[in-house]
Amino acid sequence: MPSDLYGAERPNSIGWDLHDDDDLDAIAAARMPFHTHQWQMQPLIAGEVHGTEAREGRNPADHSDLVGTVIQSTHQDVDTALAAASPWNEDAETRARVLNTAADLYEANFGELFAALTREAGKTPLDAISELREAVDFLRYYAVRGTELNSPARGIMACVSPWNFPLAIFTGQIAAALAAGNGVVAKPADPTAIVASIAVGFIHDAGVPVSALQLLPGRGSVVGARVTSDPRIKGVCFTGSTQTAQTINRAMANEITPSAPLIAETGGLNAMIVDSTALPEQAIKDIVASAFQSAGQRCSALRLLYVQEDVAAPFLEMLYGAMDELVVGNPWDLATDVGPVINAGAQDEIMDYIKDARVQNRVLKELNVPTNGTFVAPTVLKVSGIADLEKEVFGPVMHVATYKAADLDKVVNAINATGFGLTFGMHSRIDDRIEQVTSQLNVGNMYINRNQIGAIVGSQPFGGEGLSGTGPKAGGPSYVKRFASEKSLAFSM
Ligand code: GLU
Repeated sequence: MPSDLYGAERPNSIGWDLHDDDDLDAIAAARMPFHTHQWQMQPLIAGEVHGTEAREGRNPADHSDLVGTVIQSTHQDVDTALAAASPWNEDAETRARVLNTAADLYEANFGELFAALTREAGKTPLDAISELREAVDFLRYYAVRGTELNSPARGIMACVSPWNFPLAIFTGQIAAALAAGNGVVAKPADPTAIVASIAVGFIHDAGVPVSALQLLPGRGSVVGARVTSDPRIKGVCFTGSTQTAQTINRAMANEITPSAPLIAETGGLNAMIVDSTALPEQAIKDIVASAFQSAGQRCSALRLLYVQEDVAAPFLEMLYGAMDELVVGNPWDLATDVGPVINAGAQDEIMDYIKDARVQNRVLKELNVPTNGTFVAPTVLKVSGIADLEKEVFGPVMHVATYKAADLDKVVNAINATGFGLTFGMHSRIDDRIEQVTSQLNVGNMYINRNQIGAIVGSQPFGGEGLSGTGPKAGGPSYVKRFASEKSLAFSM
């Protein structure tokens, strides 16, 4: 297969450079037509839509900004979609070509996607760039993996995606299922159904028939529960909380054929260890990015920083100084580093958590944030170790603990004891120590002397161990295979 046609040997997408004035001008100009645009969306199904109730999408940074409306799917819409769903009956090379066309359309329409990502999901310009790049990379990478399969599609797959990566993860799930020849019924996260609808529009325009890709925006209790327990579904791909993954797993076990896989990426309690040999300037930059980029709303985000006791005091002072440089505010502004959290419910939950910590005198650092919109201040809280973390706090909250050099093994054991194993970071200049720690940890993605977010499709396959997910890793060579069935044929003459 010629690599130039399908992107087989194509490097990852390049994106835009926020330090380049020409790129900044290009982004500002391309977004502008969508600055006040109101998208009117509805279920994209192969049949008549019955839903009439419209949900308003509001900008989390400015609730007076109406981003658009989305007609919510009803049970009847789900049934229409399932009845009309069909696998994508094209050969693998045609599928690859179409998925690459979809990637081209994403790139060509980056202004609309950036505007929607920012206004609906609160994504900063840097977040929007990395979302688009990852989505495009997933489309091109899985397209090629699909051509390497020797086995048929499973049938109809349900893709249930999260609001924290409304474009990248949403697209990745669908692209993998389609690359293998499946039909897809996609349930986007409720708060980000507009981005999902725009994306599906481009995938349809690229040539994927509506029967092979249907979109059912709506509530989890109506749409999600119904789709993930229908026997016509031959597998579910889910990213979200561990608890919801367990619910889906149970529903599938009861209603769906036992061989149907659940491919789940779930939560994490991600730690980073900084020892006394770390380079502070580098470590601090990576900590700030890992904990606060995307307002901490990444499964991969740093939740607990372990700093070696001997260097902790000056190190943390430097960290707080770096946090003071963060621009927290309206994500439409090209200079913003940290935007809002997704909605008022999320804001209340995180603020309550911080309030409890304040009562216990555990707040080490807190920034000021705008009072309109659902902002949460980037915050650092003191804990004695990872065992103190009772849950994943999905926002810009980082915990800090100190440890004695002689207790490194205890720290490693405590991290493993959480049962989660998504990402881990370490800053150290001692190779043996890095080897000792990484060989003992049950964690899916480990990052040394760099930040621990933003896994790159193809080179850093992403996914966790234990409570953090089922595998296979997204953006890795095994992923698309899980969306295909396996057959073996033996004969003699
Ligand atoms: N893949 C993303 C990263 O490496 C995280 C995905 C998630 O939050 O679910 O940062």
